[in-house]
Amino acid sequence: MKCRLCQSEKTFYVFKKNTIIWGIKEGKEVWTIYECSDCKCRFIDNNQNKFDISLYYNEGYSENKVKDLEKSKIKSYKRRGKIQSKIINNILNNKQEKYKILDIGCNTGNFLSCLSHKFDKYGVELSAAAAKRASEKNIKVFNNKIEGVKFEPESFDVVTLFALIEHLEDPLTILKKMEY
Ligand SMILES: [Zn+2]
Repeated sequence: MKCRLCQSEKTFYVFKKNTIIWGIKEGKEVWTIYECSDCKCRFIDNNQNKFDISLYYNEGYSENKVKDLEKSKIKSYKRRGKIQSKIINNILNNKQEKYKILDIGCNTGNFLSCLSHKFDKYGVELSAAAAKRASEKNIKVFNNKIEGVKFEPESFDVVTLFALIEHLEDPLTILKKMEY
C-alpha cells in the first residue's frame, strides 16, 4: 500500500473500523487503516477511498459533533485554538501589520477566532452547521470541500490546516494547491 501523502512504500496495517455516520448509525462499510513509517500519516486503504465524504459531515454531524465541540469539550477545544494561534503568531513574528489567512477545515472557527483583528479571516468548512457557527465569528466561510473552492494565486498570506490531511482523498494535490 502506497502512502497517500508522501508516496512511500513503507506502510503497514494498523486496524479495521466500521464507518460512522455521525448521529445516524454505524455504517456498513469496514475501513482498513494503514500507517506510513516515513511520514507517520494514517490513511484508509486506497482501494476503499471511493466514497462521498460529505456524507460524514451531514445533519447528524451538526447536531452531535458541533454541539459536543462547543459545549461539553469546550475547555480543551478552546485551549487547542489558543495553542494553534500562538504557534502561528510565533512563526509570523509580526513581520506584517495585516495578514489574510485561510484555515482549511476551519470547523466552527475555533482557531481563527483566537487570532487578533490584524488577521483578515477566511475558512473552508464542509459541515454546514460548523460553517454557520464560524461565520457568526467574523469569518468569511466557504461551505464546501477544499476541492470545490478556487482561489487566485497569492490570495492569502497564510494558509493553515489542522487535523485535516487524514480526511483528504488526495492530500498531495491539496498541498500543491497551497504552494502558490
Ligand atoms: Zn507517508
